[in-house]
Amino acid sequence: MSTFDITAAKEQILEYCLRSMEYGLNFNTQGNISLRVSDQPNRFLITPTDLEYDKMTADDIVLVDSDSNLIEGKHEPSSEVTVHMAVYRRRPNVNAIVHTEPVFANVWGVVGEPILGTLVNMVIYTKGDVPIMPFSLSNRTEFGDAMCDVMGELNAVVWANHGLLTVGDSLRDAFKTSVAVESAAKVQIYARTATPNPIVLRYENLPTTTPL
Ligand SMILES: [Zn+2]
Repeated sequence: MSTFDITAAKEQILEYCLRSMEYGLNFNTQGNISLRVSDQPNRFLITPTDLEYDKMTADDIVLVDSDSNLIEGKHEPSSEVTVHMAVYRRRPNVNAIVHTEPVFANVWGVVGEPILGTLVNMVIYTKGDVPIMPFSLSNRTEFGDAMCDVMGELNAVVWANHGLLTVGDSLRDAFKTSVAVESAAKVQIYARTATPNPIVLRYENLPTTTPL
């Protein structure tokens, strides 16, 4: 396995944090990003709690173990670190997690209906309709496993009255999935103003799983 460059990984996390603001997926200190340290068992990088992204440096990203203990860093990890660790425990192929709080995905969380395949790339990235995890406080340790039950083998889940979580092989993939889910959520809202039954795609019926 190739060597994992911790410094470069921290820079990459910061880059995607800033991008999440630029794309309107996060406001204030909301959201968090983590990465599995692929060449060290039981080590993960995650954004710190309660720090604005535009004030964050790569040095503020912290290292934790799978029990959410701080191993290295000058801040406490994100308050949702236990959710991230539940995903890494349950999904060994997941290497990156992005949690954001985008408006249009959140609309469907409040409505209590899944985000459907209005856009082909979203379906390819998520591998199906994005389900809704019923509201519960995300910093409770039970939240992570309950959310993993709802997400199953999909790559995205909406937390009702809160936000969106996406996973991927890489941070680039997990982030692209967040952007795609938010776009599809927006299209679904407009489509539903025109018809109660918009035309949507099902992952099982797609002729390709390569992003277009
Ligand atoms: Zn949040």
